[in-house]
Amino acid sequence: MDLAAVPVLDQHAHGLMRPERVPGVPYAAFFTEARDPEQVALHGPTSLSYRRNLRMIADLLGAEPRETAIAARREAMGAEAYARRFIDAAGIEAVFLDDGFAPDELEPVAWHERFFPAARILRLEAHAEELLRRAPGLGSLADAFRESIDPPPRQVVAFKSIAAYRTGLDVRLPAREDAEAGFRAYKAGGPRLAQKALLDYLLGLALEVAARRGIPVQFHTGFGDPDLDLRLANPLHLRAILEDARLGRVPVVLLHAAYPFTREAGYLAATYPRVYLDIGLAFPLLSTGGMERTLGALFELSPTSKIMYSSDAHHIPELYYLAARCARGALGRMLDRAIRAGDLTAAEAERVAGDVLRGNAARLYGWATRRT
Ligand SMILES: [Zn+2]
Repeated sequence: MDLAAVPVLDQHAHGLMRPERVPGVPYAAFFTEARDPEQVALHGPTSLSYRRNLRMIADLLGAEPRETAIAARREAMGAEAYARRFIDAAGIEAVFLDDGFAPDELEPVAWHERFFPAARILRLEAHAEELLRRAPGLGSLADAFRESIDPPPRQVVAFKSIAAYRTGLDVRLPAREDAEAGFRAYKAGGPRLAQKALLDYLLGLALEVAARRGIPVQFHTGFGDPDLDLRLANPLHLRAILEDARLGRVPVVLLHAAYPFTREAGYLAATYPRVYLDIGLAFPLLSTGGMERTLGALFELSPTSKIMYSSDAHHIPELYYLAARCARGALGRMLDRAIRAGDLTAAEAERVAGDVLRGNAARLYGWATRRT
């Protein structure tokens, strides 16, 4: 199936880097979760995905598939025209930006509206850290935190948690005295919120607000940079909150296809009415075969109404384009196979393509309603 004409609703990404800073970063660093300079420089460029991504970028620019040729083209075109080339070619309907990641390096949400309609995802841990600096006690922190997210700030369509990066996805609503002890430990340590009882306590507050207001909560699951202990990022750890009746029916979005816990994520989406799946970061950081198998693993069990496109793009405009193109290609090939296998009719496959690339997210976040 050729899905080139279907727009993508990118339900999880980050902003672009201030253009003057891009040349200071090794190009391969934008295409890997590795942070070690030796790993990035020596081994990053040998991955299948990097070689393919480099060729796709060069093709679009009509340049040689070399980093120097691409850098020369960026320089010649100017940052804005260069960004526009990739973003226009990506076929984007809108992008939801998590602006709690690298806020000193990336442009703010409003700046991006010159390229696409944008909405904001509120990163709960970063937001809590700002309030924690000023809060004299747990009670005043809880009040300030609740007040600041209920109602959510303007433009916010979702909350996002990076608990997987901090204390793991086995989130348990703690006893008050444990949260108090966590608060004291934070005040003695800080500024990084990594006290499990305190983080879980604040997440509990946010989940209550999200449940009441029907706001989706995105969880980082699966792979990420080495700040993450991958063992704690398996979405099966979320069982305690998925089973918690107090949290009502807050929609939970498992980011990054939970790679490599992709089948586990598919199982959760097939079982819990409020669990949704996202494919970002796996697109475009895996090999082509890896992206197809990841998508295939999600579709093995998950309802098609639960799977959503995103890019998890950050820093450079190339990533919005690569993710959209790779996703359309892999999804088209996977749906062709599903038609041949008799799992879907051609008409059903067409509807599924539109749902995954934009429709499921538009419904979950009420996007169509918001724009009118
Ligand atoms: Zn992200």
